[in-house]
Amino acid sequence: MMAYKQILVAVDLSPEAKPVVARAREFSEQYGSALCLIHVADPLIMEGDYELRPALPLELQETIVERARGYLGALAKDMGIPDAKCIVRVGSIKHEILHYAQKHDYDLIVIGTHGRHGVATLLGSTANAMLHGTRCDVMCVRVGD
Ligand code: AMP
Repeated sequence: MMAYKQILVAVDLSPEAKPVVARAREFSEQYGSALCLIHVADPLIMEGDYELRPALPLELQETIVERARGYLGALAKDMGIPDAKCIVRVGSIKHEILHYAQKHDYDLIVIGTHGRHGVATLLGSTANAMLHGTRCDVMCVRVGD
């Protein structure tokens, strides 16, 4: 079986993130892979004219990014993977995760089936976008039901 060299874990900062990270950790232990946790802060709102505008002042955005970075670091420690890389991006969740994975040659993306956007469908919209948008393997960890 192919060994994954680099695993990217999509973390939405909800309690469901833990089982997702735990599964990625199992894979990394099995394959000796490098682990990276990524969170995307999406600060855009849709205006009435369908133009996307920043919903938050820049300073507040920076605070949010710092907090998210702190959260990821604490989560990594808590989950016993203190050496995992922690990345925070600002922008479209789907685009930023796919772009980061492709740019840095990740060979596995681990993501929860559902997160903050609910359990109305079999797969959440982020997981669905990963499956359709990348050539690397995607592991969807069942959470939220
Ligand atoms: P959702 O599409 O909100 O149902 O979330 C499904 C999964 O996508 C979550 O379990 C996370 O793995 C990932 N995800 C959702 N939102 C984010 C985010 N802002 N940053 C990183 N990953 C996310």
